[in-house]
Amino acid sequence: MQRDARRSGSLPASGFRHAGCLAIFWIAAACCGCRGTNESGVRITMTQYEQLKDIETELPLSPDSIAARYERFDSATFRSRYREKLNVICALIDSLDLGVPDSLRIDTLSIDHSVGSLGEAARQKRTIFISSSYFIIFDDARVIRSVVFHEFGHLRYSALPSAVRSDVDSLWTYLQHGSLLYLLHDGEYSGNARFGGHPNDSPTEMFASTFNLTNNRLDELQARLQYVDPTHVMVIRHLIGIVRSSLTRP
Ligand SMILES: [Zn+2]
Repeated sequence: MQRDARRSGSLPASGFRHAGCLAIFWIAAACCGCRGTNESGVRITMTQYEQLKDIETELPLSPDSIAARYERFDSATFRSRYREKLNVICALIDSLDLGVPDSLRIDTLSIDHSVGSLGEAARQKRTIFISSSYFIIFDDARVIRSVVFHEFGHLRYSALPSAVRSDVDSLWTYLQHGSLLYLLHDGEYSGNARFGGHPNDSPTEMFASTFNLTNNRLDELQARLQYVDPTHVMVIRHLIGIVRSSLTRP
């Protein structure tokens, strides 16, 4: 999940290979800065600090706490502290890889330590990038799991037969015109990562968000549909059906 803005930091600085899923945790260090830092920590610029204050109400911690955590979790500390969680995510990626064509499988998990990528995740070719903030700031296994599912939703969308993809595109147009895409906004269901997902942007974003919700928050989604016009519910159920069938399509 979530916000799929492209990364702006530089990769990689160092990394290690994970035996289980052939993932490499590339470690990117943030650059430049004038705000307080320690010898080995990530530096936070005043501009970045002010940007945190601009979105303070959307954050689970105060800007001061977030700055302190970034400075504390240099790459070595991060790897040591979150090794088990990283292994769990690699196992999840391996299991989701089983259902996608070989050419689309993810073989690298890249952790981005730059402050500028806070709250971001993205996929590029066979790599999933996840901001370290999902570990050191949001620190909720369900949120990280949602991030991975969302990115795999994009993969599934790209593997859809063209006729099915056209169907999804039509559903996106219908739901957008009806101002109903908020129902599929991952952040509505994501605890302390409320900004996650942006289904309004495009059919593939809608599909990725629905893929995540269908696999992780289906009960909550179904509950919200109780208050939606039955005609619209039929359309959303049709979309959910396509998402489910994509899981069984190699
Ligand atoms: Zn996305």
